Amino acid sequence: MENQQVNPEQLSRFKSMFEHKKCFYPGCESKAIIKAHSIQENRHLNYLADQVKGQNEVYYLDDNIVFDRDANGAISKQRTQRILHHRGIKAASTFGGFCQEHDKIFKPTIEDVEFKGDLEQLFFYTYRCYAYYLHKKYESYVGLKSAVNEARNEIKGTTEIPDFSNLKSHGKIGLELNNILKGLENTLKGVDGLFNVFIEKSETELFGLKLKKDRFDEVVEKKKYSEFRYAIHSFDGVIPVAASSVVHYIDEFHQPSSDNVVYPAEIAITVFPSPEKNQTHIILGGFEDNPNFGLVFHKFNALSNSKREKFVSDLLIHRGSNIFISPRMYNKFSDSNRSELIDQRASSSQYVVGLPEIKLNLFELIYADKSD
Ligand SMILES: [Zn+2]
Repeated sequence: MENQQVNPEQLSRFKSMFEHKKCFYPGCESKAIIKAHSIQENRHLNYLADQVKGQNEVYYLDDNIVFDRDANGAISKQRTQRILHHRGIKAASTFGGFCQEHDKIFKPTIEDVEFKGDLEQLFFYTYRCYAYYLHKKYESYVGLKSAVNEARNEIKGTTEIPDFSNLKSHGKIGLELNNILKGLENTLKGVDGLFNVFIEKSETELFGLKLKKDRFDEVVEKKKYSEFRYAIHSFDGVIPVAASSVVHYIDEFHQPSSDNVVYPAEIAITVFPSPEKNQTHIILGGFEDNPNFGLVFHKFNALSNSKREKFVSDLLIHRGSNIFISPRMYNKFSDSNRSELIDQRASSSQYVVGLPEIKLNLFELIYADKSD
């Protein structure tokens, strides 16, 4: 979506919600937030869990930014390579989202009821993808800011551009800085301006997320669930995988906006198994007025069942985060499938058109649990 003029006062209020760990629910000022699951623990994660080194756990793929709030906003254990983690289901998929009272909004809508696929349910799955996503994006923003501060300190008293690839706060951003600064032919002139551009860009992005949160707030309050467009794909067979992820995707038929930039479609993807019905469900959700999501939506609906599944699998592997895989499914992957799962994520970039081809398809029935 197009960039909007940043309103500094509104932006700082939005930031303070995260800084002060306030509830995500519209207008709620409660700071008593609980660790919310972005994927239901007792039904879905519990179903996926299996033995990993003697513990009952799930595998998950996530953005590898580990943020430690006690370390003065620095990212404490930044790893630049994405790896497969394993985790107990109590901690898996959680984020500091809602207060005790408002975490309950998911119970009568999606958690304690059967999946019917009505507008309200589709909205709440999409809402939960975004609540998780916005929290992670805020953490990345904090990481970027501390990396830029560290880089600013490094250039103090020097005349040549240092190598930023070992920034303690954020090595990955350091590598990016190195690339950008190459254009300056090793003089420090203009570096500060570039840092400002960096920060400004990410504040604009953050403000865009604030505007999205406003729209979600309105939908939650007024129950205007048709603000979003949804696609559901359910198929027979229980694939022990679950996801609650927001991804970006550009197809070759996407058109540039009025500012001549091709913006990616933003797609909220929810996946969960339904063993009692011997089915697996995939939900795509996106803003009704996001034209590129509309194009993806129509393309998706026109695909054959198997192509829909492969498309969502590709999106998750290349662009997704917050994806959970049962160890009993992962154990069935060949070595080449395993490396595709990890390496492909490492090379993802949201402004690349299309998705590189890979063999692995998460939804192939060879990975399904037996339904007996
Ligand atoms: Zn609340």
